Amino acid sequence: MKDSYDVIVVGAGPAGVAASLICRKGGYNVLLLDKKKREKIGDKVCGEAISKKTVHEALEKLSIAPPQKEEINARVEDLVLRTASSTNHIIFPAIGYMIDRHKFGQRILQEAINSGVILKDRCRVKKPIVKDSKVSGVLIRDSEHNSIEIFSKMVIDCSGTMAVVRTGLPQEYEPKLNKVVTKADFAPCYREIIELNHDHNLEGKIVLQYEKGIPEPGYIWFFADGEKRLNCGTGFIKEGKHAKKSVKSVYFNALEKYYPKGTYETIDGRGDIVPIRAPLWNAVGNGLIVAGDAAYHADPLTAEGHGPALMAGCFAGEVVCNALEQNSFELEDLWRYNLLVMKEFGADHARNRILTIVLEKIGPEKLEFLLKRKVIKQSDLTSAGIMKKRSFMDYLGRVVGCFPKYGLLLMMRKAISTSKAIAKHCETYPTTPESYDAWKLKILNLYSQVT
Ligand SMILES: Cc1cc2nc3c(=O)[nH]c(=O)nc-3n(C[C@H](O)[C@H](O)[C@H](O)COP(=O)(O)OP(=O)(O)OC[C@H]3O[C@@H](n4cnc5c(N)ncnc54)[C@H](O)[C@@H]3O)c2cc1C
Repeated sequence: MKDSYDVIVVGAGPAGVAASLICRKGGYNVLLLDKKKREKIGDKVCGEAISKKTVHEALEKLSIAPPQKEEINARVEDLVLRTASSTNHIIFPAIGYMIDRHKFGQRILQEAINSGVILKDRCRVKKPIVKDSKVSGVLIRDSEHNSIEIFSKMVIDCSGTMAVVRTGLPQEYEPKLNKVVTKADFAPCYREIIELNHDHNLEGKIVLQYEKGIPEPGYIWFFADGEKRLNCGTGFIKEGKHAKKSVKSVYFNALEKYYPKGTYETIDGRGDIVPIRAPLWNAVGNGLIVAGDAAYHADPLTAEGHGPALMAGCFAGEVVCNALEQNSFELEDLWRYNLLVMKEFGADHARNRILTIVLEKIGPEKLEFLLKRKVIKQSDLTSAGIMKKRSFMDYLGRVVGCFPKYGLLLMMRKAISTSKAIAKHCETYPTTPESYDAWKLKILNLYSQVT
């Protein structure tokens, strides 16, 4: 290992592999660092449901073949939001697969190594090195416990939820970049893969089952992972009155209702954390880009983060190649990355965050009421549905349906109008950093209307 590279990428998950591959394809020398052993990379606690569209789009950029036979466990056709009553549910088309993340993660890692990316595994990044207000490398602890400084023109932080580079930055480094991780940003989760002794009848479905007793975001998931196999789990923000609740106990209580003990065998059971907030509004600073979970790129509603991480990694790689070509690594040179992310999925995720806040506020029983009375319809929750102008008769129908819970109707109206305003505001994301602070203030004000 040399002590200087064009690019250092921290973390060899989907974001890191994508970013390093694009930089390498651009002709630059790239060091990819991961704390895991090489053969464990890609083995992550996950729902393992991926959307075909996002993942294929990113893999095309990377010239990598999409998930193949032995990497695919099942196909996915529908995302179902369900409450306790099985008749009340909302179905979104969600074309994709259930994959074996470990196998797929190993294949894409191998592609990066084949292209000439240098992988250093079992190597923990401790903190960034900042010189003259620019990220200039990282301090690592290798497998022999040596502390080593490695330098680069650009660093890409793809280290997942703990964002080791971003959170290790000194306060005075770029004020437009959020360097803090709080408990409210994540949901600790417990996830199992179970094999039932009967068919689950959920073929092609990934189900978010809203349940009383599960704190925000309020659901246990059941993802059909084969004829009798389910990937299931739950998670919530451990804050306030939920701080002391055990995620594992909440999960087992909810699971028991649907799949009692003795009706299944557990194949795997592990915990992890998933980001559930809106994306970082700015994810760049001098010499640095943040991508994937490190920048909260997972969808706050569904936790889908694999495709967004791959896409964000590609964008980070493209913007870094451009900066290397220009030999200029300042905030302004990297700003385009924010625009690419916002356009691809950032605006949708920002809007979905509103939905999760509202679903949490109304709770599963009131959600059931709204679905039963058709006060909320499936079409309301799509991008087109939210932006649609409603007629007086449509609104009147909902007023009648909501009797006598008008407070709920007002809350839904507020949520929908805020979602619209957020979607519109995201379309005006600043093309240069100058007007960013005013833009950010406005979006935070919009969020404060529903929190
Ligand atoms: C319970 C659960 C269920 C989920 N379900 C789904 C789902 O169904 N579909 C979906 O699309 N997404 C799902 N996600 C989200 C998805 O797993 C993540 O969004 C995705 O893995 C993010 O990719 P990433 O590359 O940003 O980070 P990661 O995949 O987390 O990769 C980060 C890498 O950085 C390395 N690293 C961390 N710290 C350091 C350090 N200090 N030094 C060196 N290396 C370091 C890690 O070892 C890891 O290899 C789920 C997540 C959880 C927790």
